[in-house]
Order: sequence, then C-alpha cells, then structure tokens
Amino acid sequence: MDPIVIIGSGLAGFTLAREFRKLDAATPLVLVTADGGDFYSKPMLSNAFAQGKAPQQLVNTPAATMAEQLAITLTSHARVERIRPKDREIDTASGTLRYSKLVLAVGADPIRLPLAGDAAAEVLSVNDLADYAIFRQHIEGKSRVAIIGAGLIGCEFANDLAGAGFAVTVVDPSPQPLASLLPPEAGQQLVEPLAHLGVDWHFGTSVEAVDHQGSSYRLTLKNGDIIDSECVLSAVGLRPRTTLAQEAGLAINRGIVADKTLRTSDEHIYALGDCVEIDGQVRPYVLPIMQAAKALARTLAVEQTEVVFPPMPVAVKTPAWPVVVQPVARDAVGQWQIQEQNDGIRMIFVDGNQRITGFALTGKQTSARSEMIKLLAA
Ligand code: FAD
Repeated sequence: MDPIVIIGSGLAGFTLAREFRKLDAATPLVLVTADGGDFYSKPMLSNAFAQGKAPQQLVNTPAATMAEQLAITLTSHARVERIRPKDREIDTASGTLRYSKLVLAVGADPIRLPLAGDAAAEVLSVNDLADYAIFRQHIEGKSRVAIIGAGLIGCEFANDLAGAGFAVTVVDPSPQPLASLLPPEAGQQLVEPLAHLGVDWHFGTSVEAVDHQGSSYRLTLKNGDIIDSECVLSAVGLRPRTTLAQEAGLAINRGIVADKTLRTSDEHIYALGDCVEIDGQVRPYVLPIMQAAKALARTLAVEQTEVVFPPMPVAVKTPAWPVVVQPVARDAVGQWQIQEQNDGIRMIFVDGNQRITGFALTGKQTSARSEMIKLLAA
C-alpha cells in the first residue's frame, strides 16, 4: 500500500501526523521536508530575543525523535520539486515517491518589497528557525534595528527588541500599528507604550531604498526621511506557498484552494496550514491550523470530516501593551464599535445582521477575552 505523504514539517505537518496517529497506528505515513525537520515553536521567533534564546533552544523535539514518536518515515533536507497527480507521485532531488493521499503543508513565504538601493538584498526576514539564526548572528553587537511593517510580526519584534535595549525604528504606510488586524482606535493604543519602550514610529510612509552607509544601512523613506540602522528586518506579511500546487495544475487563489474537508481540486491531494485557503479564507495562525489538522486526520483515517472553526482569538505578543483580537474577514460587512475605554479598549464588530462576529481588546481590557468569546455569534 502506498503511504500517505505529508510535505512540510511545520506546525501543520506535524500536528496532522500526531492527530492521524491517534486514530490510525498502522497506515504508513511519510513526511518529506525541505528543512531539518526539527519541531519548534514558530511564534517564539518574534519574542525569543529578549529571552536570550539561541536557535537550538527553540527546538522542542529533534526530527529523529519526532519520527520515532509518531511512527513516521521522515525525510529531511528534501525539497519536493514536482507533484505528478496523474501518477500519484512526487519528485525530490533524491528520488520519486508514490502516495495514496498527499498533504501539502508547505507554509508561506515572506513578501519581499521591491526596494531600491545597493543593500536591498541584505534586508532580512524571519519566518523559520534558519532565518532566526541568521538574524541573531546579524544583530550581535549592534544597537539599532529598523523594521519594515507594523503588522503582528513587526510589532512583536519591535516590542521584543526594544525591550532588549535596541533602538528600534518601525516604518509602515498605515496611520497606526496592526492596521489589517485591528480597528484604528485599538491599533492607535500601541503607539505610546511601545514608544515609551524605545520604538520610533514612522507611519504613513514607506521605505524606498536601503543603501550601505559605512558598516551600517541608510533607509530612504518615501516622505524624504532618512533612517540610519545597523540591521533591517522586513515584516510586511506572508504569502501562501502555491507554486508546487500551481505547477501540478491544482486550483489556486490567494492560497491553495481547498474545501472544508481540506481537499484541493485533486481528490487525492489535501492542503493544510499557512499555504491553504479553506472555503475562501486564509487563516495563518496556530489555533485554526490545529483545528483543521484534527478534521483532516479524521478524513484521512476514518470518514470525510469538515472543519468547523470555533472562535479563536489571536493574542499579539506585545507585553508593553497586550492585544487580543478575534479577527473579522477582510471583506466582512459591518462596523467596529467601542464598548469600553479604560486602561485599554474593548471593541466589538457588529455585522449587517446586528450579530457580533469579532472583537478587539487591548491593555487591561484583554482580561475580558472569555467574556467576549461568549458574546460571539455562533
Ligand atoms: P511552516 O511552519 O512554514 O512549515 C512549512 C514547512 O514546509 C517547512 O517545514 C518547510 O521546510 C516545508 N516546505 C516548504 N516547501 C517545501 C517543498 N517544496 N518541499 C518540502 N518541504 C517544503 N500564529 C499565532 O497563532 N500566534 C502567534 O503568536 C504567532 N506568531 C508568529 C510569529 C512569527 C515570527 C511567525 C513567522 C508566525 C507567527 N504565527 C503566529 C503564525 C504561525 O506560526 C504559523 O501560522 C504556523 O506556524 C504555520 O505553520 P505551517 O506548518 O503551515 O508552515
């Protein structure tokens, strides 16, 4: 019998393997991954620096132990180059593998802005353990970091690095932080506490060029401002990795298109994690991935199962000014309303049918998390 093959050893790939093994101890499971296959906590990449964590300290379980615990064949450092759906085969540099079912858990790529300047190629981004190792090495002995992007990852790095004593500059075209996640009134609340920690914000503009300036960098902003920094970190978002699926002829939109059973346009191929768009939505967060992995494990081991997403608020790791948000879909119709403003803000999103479908809490108001979940429309 051909094995079930999972491509990718991130949270999605490993959670699926773990959930599958709870239901089926016998079916052969193969996990093929481009990286080293160690299991680590990706969310820690943006708050590990202040804790003084070296990359290896972020590894929870080494690849060999994962393989043993989950009774899987794990092939690391093996990038999958092609999927051939008609033959139910995948090609890696070291050979071809047949599958009965295939799961794409290949994650997302950091978006790279088209920057001018002779140092544009030296702008870093941190999306995996290897990136974190490079970043740590790069900022060793430095004191000034510029971050492009004030989204979740940019704000978390800003808080972490400023807390560790770095002079941090953040540049974002929006008028306030976390603009795609929070209503403006809530995002605005982060400005002051992080500035107090040492973050120098530049809103309403963007970086045009990054040039060498002696041993450091000079950033030229669209509004003419100049920033000198010793390290430049880009955190402008992630884009689902779709190339492999697209070249195999699978349907692609923002992510790899899948239905609620995580099945792609090919009946033997599923997709999970940051790379997938389920029923029109990309949900690149830990809790939805775990929820989807459970449903997919059941589909693969027992019977076709649709994923159901309960409320799963996202906690932004900015201890200087905590944030918890139940995000609303990009195209959601409705209005954000302020419920309370005292040591933070409490806001709800009310849709066209007067149902509460999202919330945003900051500061001390984050303690209302459980209460707010109960208010959400089923
Ligand atoms: P990944 O972890 O990216 O795994 C993809 C895997 O696919 C890798 O093993 C890769 O090597 C492999 N791969 C890719 N292409 C190929 C190929 N062609 N052949 C073989 N293997 C391949 N979410 C939260 O909910 N809360 C947080 O606080 C939070 N903080 C975050 C902080 C940072 C800095 C980042 C980057 C993300 C954060 N997230 C957070 C998001 C969350 O971590 C991700 O949604 C999740 O880890 C994605 O898991 P994944 O398995 O889909 O992708």
